[in-house]
Amino acid sequence: VSEPAVVLRRSSLGDVVLAGGITGALGPVIFHTRAAWAEVAARLPGVVEVRPWSLAALPERARLVVDLQASLESARMARRVRGPRRRVDPARLRRHLRVAFKTAPPPTLLSRYAAAAGVVAQPHPWIGIPRTPGPTLLLAPGAAWATKRWPEDRWADLARRWGGPVVLLGGADDRERCETVQRLSGRDLELACEQGFGQTFRALERGAVLVAGDTGLLHLGAACGVPVAGIFGPTHSTDGHWCHPGATVERDDLPCRPCSRFGGTTCPAGDHACLAGLPVERVWQALTAVAGGAP
Ligand code: SF4
Repeated sequence: VSEPAVVLRRSSLGDVVLAGGITGALGPVIFHTRAAWAEVAARLPGVVEVRPWSLAALPERARLVVDLQASLESARMARRVRGPRRRVDPARLRRHLRVAFKTAPPPTLLSRYAAAAGVVAQPHPWIGIPRTPGPTLLLAPGAAWATKRWPEDRWADLARRWGGPVVLLGGADDRERCETVQRLSGRDLELACEQGFGQTFRALERGAVLVAGDTGLLHLGAACGVPVAGIFGPTHSTDGHWCHPGATVERDDLPCRPCSRFGGTTCPAGDHACLAGLPVERVWQALTAVAGGAP
């Protein structure tokens, strides 16, 4: 077995998941990340060990150090390990210009990861889970940034239209929002809003399709081979993170998009037209298309 490569990616969940497109080709890999994402990083192909995000946890040497975070902190960590070093192009200027002047987006993050690692990005699925899909609809209505959230009543409408079981996925912070969706739907929905990922992975094993905003759970579902439909608002699917089979739903008639690289707390235009003006029917069409129908 060859000496492991070290991969550095602290956050966020989606960025850690996307590393799964290259870790298989790079393996064996020691992956350094935040404790919150360790459970997910451990499932990425080629990853033999997950270690904390700290200088003290670094191995002395490595076959290759791939810095996918491209921060001052990660640069310092990379320098601490003996071995050749590569660093992802964060494309910060191009991403700023894209938001400010709607210029062309940079290459996808996955392709920039692959270029940094010197490997070819692998086809999906990256995370092997025992998939036994049934008639279950998975909805992830939360998002860390308010402007990335599609209104609760639309999620509830999707749940009402679906004739099979529905699971609402999210982190512990999304519980209140998921409870609101459940109440508005008038249906008995299953809630999987948790600190870790145990319930989430079990739901991904049986889900027919996952609908999510531009969030880490969208990438996680896609990486596990779940058919996904992603809802994009203040960010655009061409901005660099989306690289999956599946459907995207977004308004292409709004000159204000993308207004942000990550999402924000309030809509700069004031009306949140990108998501408040995105009808349920469009998302329904996308989800039934990727699911191959609906019960
Ligand atoms: S409507 Fe336009 S300005 Fe407002 S959040 Fe959406 S993309 Fe941004």
